[in-house]
Amino acid sequence: MSTTHQTPAEAAAVVAHAGAFVAGAEHQNSGDPLPVVNPANGRPFAAVGAASPRDVDVAVEAASRAFGEWSALAVSKRGEILGRAARHVEDHLEELIPLLTREQGKTLRDSRIELTKALDTLMHYVGLSKALRGVHTPGLDPGVDGFVLRRPLGVVAAIVPWNFPTTLLCNKLAPALVAGNTVVAKPAATTPLTTLRFCELLFQGGLPAGVFNVVSGSGAVAGEALVAHPTVRKVAFTGSTPVGERIMQLCAPGVKRVTLELGGSDPMIICDDADLSAAASAASMGRFYNCGQACLAIKRVYVFESVADEVIEQIVAKASRLRLGPGDAEGVQMGPMHTAGGRAELADQVSRTLEAGGSLLVGGGPPDAAELADGFFYRPTVVADAPQDSPMAVEEVFGPALPVWRVADLDEGIARANGSQFGLGSSVWTRNLARAREAAARIEAGYTWINTRTKVYDELPFGGWKASGYGKEHAEEAFDYYTETKAVVVGDG
Ligand code: NAP
Ligand code: MG
Repeated sequence: MSTTHQTPAEAAAVVAHAGAFVAGAEHQNSGDPLPVVNPANGRPFAAVGAASPRDVDVAVEAASRAFGEWSALAVSKRGEILGRAARHVEDHLEELIPLLTREQGKTLRDSRIELTKALDTLMHYVGLSKALRGVHTPGLDPGVDGFVLRRPLGVVAAIVPWNFPTTLLCNKLAPALVAGNTVVAKPAATTPLTTLRFCELLFQGGLPAGVFNVVSGSGAVAGEALVAHPTVRKVAFTGSTPVGERIMQLCAPGVKRVTLELGGSDPMIICDDADLSAAASAASMGRFYNCGQACLAIKRVYVFESVADEVIEQIVAKASRLRLGPGDAEGVQMGPMHTAGGRAELADQVSRTLEAGGSLLVGGGPPDAAELADGFFYRPTVVADAPQDSPMAVEEVFGPALPVWRVADLDEGIARANGSQFGLGSSVWTRNLARAREAAARIEAGYTWINTRTKVYDELPFGGWKASGYGKEHAEEAFDYYTETKAVVVGDG
């Protein structure tokens, strides 16, 4: 990260933060503070205490102490408390939006969308708390009835990345808390501030102390200590596939419960009978939203040969028109990438793909504007005809660069779509119902959108196939991952 442009006045303006919110109060982490950098100008503006394993212990102990009382409440009561706390956070939305933009880089508009969605998810589970029912199976034998009880697991660890710090957290927090668990979250070391404040606001809004705790720190130290902590009963993780694999290993002793929402390389197939301009808009939005840093971003486009020129031209035109700039500037449509390292990795993937024979249609590097030189900007980029074994075809591309290919027909499109280690989302554009049904049945992915943009709904289960994950979030299915069932048999003896 670049600190070279920092003046003494800017250095003095770096705000210190304790780094943890535990048992209803700020907790001073004992590790050396980690900088939080504004991606739009490369300058650190906060120094946040990093959790040591001992700080993680304190947070897990607090969550463990809070579990008894919280889990004993009626589920609808927990929903009511969470709902009231969420409304308190909502009252502070205008404070959280610029904070999220400053630490993450996304535009103010996208920060508003993210935070609103995070609160919607909390309220979705508040609603479900009134509808949860158990199972009763009468007459298993004469005079013998069966019941299925659902019990919370205990302390849940939630570990999330920096691209959508609050929505990815609330996907875990909401079902975990409504089901009666308590939570310790570790945000990404580069985006701790919105999460810490979010936690404090939930507490101020009436969530009991210790029910939700946040410890900031590095994945290697705080993350591993949290995952391996013997009191933690379940780890809910969103992040990269290699770290997900590591977490699964750390969870093996004692068969700790784990859900993993991992990387993706979502394919989009555009057939010759599609609404081509709607498909091109969806491709542009799906790839460049959040500066391309979304697990569910459209990362590979396969378009039928006969309409390819038209579609590619439209995508390129849209990419060229996107207005880049700091997330808090008026009229900006795409902010910087989150880190200098992420940008360097993307630049490397693009250049290796071009060396391998791909053709650059637009973008391919940082913008020229001098006022953007210190931020981690990268122009919206489109690459055609990259070889099938080139980096942009096989690796996850986590930034604003889109590879597009021509395919002969749906069979080839589906085969290419499935030729990936990942299986998170996918989309298909066609007006032919038989083609749509076939694609939905054959594409190996947890979501298939047909003729619509790649939006995730709280109402539907979400989770990757293959190396993209294990387990589901969202919808009622999420409760399955935060509870154990118990069969109870009652006789009349
Ligand atoms: P990452 O490196 O896997 O980090 C994610 C989180 O895990 C961070 O809080 C990180 O802390 C922590 N961590 C790192 N190493 C750890 C370890 N050994 N033990 C415990 N925790 C550890 O993810 P990223 O590369 O920053 O984020 C982008 C990735 O997330 C992409 O692959 C993207 O597709 C994926 N993603 C998936 C979904 C989904 O729902 N499937 C959603 C969004 C993003 P540090 O900050 O210190 O690294
Ligand atoms: Mg990482």
